[in-house]
Amino acid sequence: MKTYRILGKNGDSIIQIGAGFDNLSGFPGGTKNFILTDHNIDRLYGRRFPQVAGVITIGTGEAVKTLETVRGIYEKLIALEADRSAFLLGIGGGIVCDIAGFAAATYLRGIRFALVPTTLLAQIDAAIGGKNGVNFHGFKNMVGTFRQPEFVLSDIAFLKTLPGREVRSGLAEMVKHAVIADPAMFSFLEKNWRAALALDPEVMEKLVHDAVVVKADVVNLDETETGERRKLNFGHTLGHAVEKTTGVPHGEAVSIGMIAASRLSVGLGLLPPADLERIEALLIKLELPVRLPSNLEKLLQALKKDKKREGEMIRFVLLKRIGETVIEEIPIEKLQSTIEGLPPSRESLKNRAESRT
Ligand code: ADP
Ligand code: ZN
Repeated sequence: MKTYRILGKNGDSIIQIGAGFDNLSGFPGGTKNFILTDHNIDRLYGRRFPQVAGVITIGTGEAVKTLETVRGIYEKLIALEADRSAFLLGIGGGIVCDIAGFAAATYLRGIRFALVPTTLLAQIDAAIGGKNGVNFHGFKNMVGTFRQPEFVLSDIAFLKTLPGREVRSGLAEMVKHAVIADPAMFSFLEKNWRAALALDPEVMEKLVHDAVVVKADVVNLDETETGERRKLNFGHTLGHAVEKTTGVPHGEAVSIGMIAASRLSVGLGLLPPADLERIEALLIKLELPVRLPSNLEKLLQALKKDKKREGEMIRFVLLKRIGETVIEEIPIEKLQSTIEGLPPSRESLKNRAESRT
């Protein structure tokens, strides 16, 4: 087992990676422990949950990430007589982690809480960093708080029941962590992508740990997203627009977004083309999409609506090389012409060659 510590303004968070869920330590004794989970996790793992005063189960999918759901949780906590000494353990994917953190941070002005992330995405992203929240009026994570969970227990064994597409989605985010801050981790992924896809426990434990360290280091430097934390948005500016316009899973959209941002970096003379090639090759091996949508116009329209837009400029996380980012304000017009003016990617060349034969 590997552990890592995040030093938050509202307390520290201990991240345990590879720890077995059945040896849940750190859970306080006493009778005021509660679990928040979703129906899938309850069905798959409910029998192995520790003994608690109450298990609160919510539905699945982005649509449950609302204040209505949180209201239901408050009501259940009140009915279960949860007082200020209560401890809430969130067990599930990113949605459960986000909602558990928000409910715990706000109920009675804040009760103790911890997270057991059960998706790869949640283990390296949602559960790390102390951001929580729900969607509001169609806007993602509009309402939320910063609050560190007391501990995060990431058991790689959970990933065995995760659909392959969800695993790959998490691997996209993992590539992002390597690309923005850890060239050695990137090389490790290049060598061990097969083992990663097969969820080899040793390889995955190391990768989850390294990804957590990247995110946690950034969070330790900048807990509330003013500067350093922005680099975690690599691939997400265009990625969110792809997600919105095409409906592909988050990680797949981020994969496309990373290619777009890397190509933009090459187009602006920041990134050596060989680094772009390596990023693209790794994403392809991990069976992730790398082709930009053909309708760039529609994508850029969605981008203009993005809340990060400032005037006609869009703030982009770009690359100088694998492991080093730079933030630049790009005018929307330049964005389109730069991306369109770039030579086609390897993948689109390959597809063109295939369609000729
Ligand atoms: P994320 O945002 O981390 O991908 P979500 O909370 O959206 O996570 O969960 C995605 C879906 O996967 C949900 O339907 C959830 O119930 C399910 N899920 C979460 N963890 C597992 C797991 N270990 N095995 C099977 N299904 C899971
Ligand atoms: Zn993401």
